[in-house]
Amino acid sequence: MSTALYPGTFDPITFGHLDILERALKLFDKIIITIAINPSKQPLFSMDERVDLIHKVLLERNIDKNVTVEGFEGLLVNFALKKNVHAIIRGLRAVSDFEYELQMALMNRRLADKVNTVFMMPHEKYTYLNSTIVKEVSKLGGDVSNFVPDVVKQALENKLS
Ligand code: ADP
Repeated sequence: MSTALYPGTFDPITFGHLDILERALKLFDKIIITIAINPSKQPLFSMDERVDLIHKVLLERNIDKNVTVEGFEGLLVNFALKKNVHAIIRGLRAVSDFEYELQMALMNRRLADKVNTVFMMPHEKYTYLNSTIVKEVSKLGGDVSNFVPDVVKQALENKLS
């Protein structure tokens, strides 16, 4: 049984995240979405809200048997080792992601050699998408239905109205 971690902030989950997740499920039997508790970031959605939204979306897509969601605090590689998982999935949208991602991947490998990072490219239509821009568009009254599932769109409207 092959398992990978898919770490991130997921504030909130978007079609870009889901594109990577569904591609990763073709390579791994099980994915653990790991939501980082990052005290320096001020997320719009609480940890419980983010977990709840992801659960709803997984259920809708019928992938809730293969994907679990967990919050974690601390070093990602320690979490990976604790879970006996040797792959970390990251999405690469554009060259601008590359430098930071390379640094993270190499540092993580230096900390734990057996933990490898697997980079995946989303469909081109999601290369410009991130949670921040979706929040911005929603806040300004734009339609985000092409970027996030309905349940997330609703949650954004409730939060930002
Ligand atoms: P982080 O704060 O770790 O970047 P995010 O929630 O923004 O957390 O992203 C989590 C992961 O999902 C990252 O690897 C990121 O590159 C990837 N990701 C986010 N949006 C997209 C997208 N539109 N296409 C591909 N990958 C994405």
